[in-house]
Amino acid sequence: LRLNNHNLSQLHNATVPSYDRTTIKQGIVHVGVGGFHRAHLAVYVDSMLEQLGLRDWSICGVGLQPFDAEMKNALAPQDHLYTVLEKSARGSKARVIGSITDYLFAPDSSEAVIAKMAHPDTHIVSMTITESGYFYNENTHELEIEHPDIAFDLQGKGSPRTFFGYVSAALERRFKAGLKPFTVLSCDNMQKNGDITRNMLLTFVKHRNPEMATWLAQNGAFPNSMVDRITPRTLEADVNDLAENFGVQDSWPVVTEPFMQWVIEDKFADGRPPFEKVGVQVVKNVKEVEEFELTKLRLLNASHSAMGYAGYLAGFQYIHEVIGHPKFHKYIFNMMQQEVKPLLPRIPGVDVDEYCKTLISRFANPAMKDELTRICLGGSGKLPQFIMPSIAEQIVAGGPLRRLTLCAAAWFTYLQGFNEKGEEFVLSFDPMAKELQPLAREGGSDPMKMLGVKSLFGDDLRGDERFVAELKAAMKSLKTEGALATIEKYAE
Ligand code: NAD
Repeated sequence: LRLNNHNLSQLHNATVPSYDRTTIKQGIVHVGVGGFHRAHLAVYVDSMLEQLGLRDWSICGVGLQPFDAEMKNALAPQDHLYTVLEKSARGSKARVIGSITDYLFAPDSSEAVIAKMAHPDTHIVSMTITESGYFYNENTHELEIEHPDIAFDLQGKGSPRTFFGYVSAALERRFKAGLKPFTVLSCDNMQKNGDITRNMLLTFVKHRNPEMATWLAQNGAFPNSMVDRITPRTLEADVNDLAENFGVQDSWPVVTEPFMQWVIEDKFADGRPPFEKVGVQVVKNVKEVEEFELTKLRLLNASHSAMGYAGYLAGFQYIHEVIGHPKFHKYIFNMMQQEVKPLLPRIPGVDVDEYCKTLISRFANPAMKDELTRICLGGSGKLPQFIMPSIAEQIVAGGPLRRLTLCAAAWFTYLQGFNEKGEEFVLSFDPMAKELQPLAREGGSDPMKMLGVKSLFGDDLRGDERFVAELKAAMKSLKTEGALATIEKYAE
């Protein structure tokens, strides 16, 4: 049966919303309605609407990118309903989510997006715009003010091109109307995602309207949060599985794992729904969020990158296949235990060894079919967040760093764009690929060209002899012995 409001009551093999979706106000505007948002924040909001009967907190989705037309076209005919297919080795569950009640596609009307964010009913603007959507320079920790899209938006002429352009235009209306600013809630995988959002946005706004920047600095809120739920790209087979086994015809369902976690700093400018009643850890202490974030990014996301690039070079297709290989399993386990764990803070109530074990079993979930081409997306936003900080800390501590370094070596080698048979392959999307691929190719197995990209690596790493020697050795091994043989050497 086609998924839409009318057919909801006839879907007997999936859990469906029982609340009236037509009269709920949209208190949240979410930019970047991809797989992750639909498997995470939108699911928590759906639980609140279902269990607590809230009337002010549905979500209006927003797509800023031209390719978001696909999401608009998938959701609109389904009354913005979609299905979450939760998969594990034990089987699958289907749940229809009703919390997204509208979707605005910015290229149709930038005015509609700005007006929606500025509307008094909007209390939170949340986003998953990927790491590169922040225009954050890893070296200077500043906004990339020279970037053509940021420079264009700073002029304020024509439809904005960036998240900051939209948000600042909407905030300007609220400022002039005497309203409170909405909370800007980042759900992207970045250490201190709220602080980065605050700093980038305030820099942007200062250039546009210094008076408004003061107002925003005093009244705005940018909670830090740690987000977790592995969400692969939806495959054609998932669409068919849902239709055949659950009787739901959904043109773009989301596939995810049973596990989900969200730790969020309790800092909101204009109210919030009671997230804590549906399993979100809302904490007063920012340090607690930071520690959770750090632990998750340096273990889960770092392991993903370490499996992604080397696994791709070794010819694997999915994460569960990579972790299923005994040498990769050992390599990842030892990287976590020996090179990352000693750097992490102790969090009361969290057993890091158990956390690592759980991660490995989540990676091994064969039902997820998490593609390496997804894991390899946007390395320029990921390695500097997930891998390089651990390396930098191990340099200072004089501790082990060879497995972490192999991950960087595998990324540099991957960026050259040739598999082990010498055939050229297309890189997973990375906004810096045009700049990085020529450097990776020119360098060959010498990493110095790549390490010279200051916006990613700063100055310190390039100057550390031990690290550079390790990196050279790892790149040489990848080139001469291949990825699998190299992993074997680094596993022990
Ligand atoms: P996706 O490809 O399904 O969706 C990405 C969304 O981001 C799209 O809506 C796209 O329009 C938007 N986007 C990309 N670049 C943008 C930009 N420059 N400005 C504005 N919007 C932009 O990806 P996803 O799986 O939803 O992941 C998105 C982000 O969510 C990740 O980058 C990560 O930070 C976070 N996240 C993902 C997972 C996961 O397992 N998929 C887990 C935790 C966190």
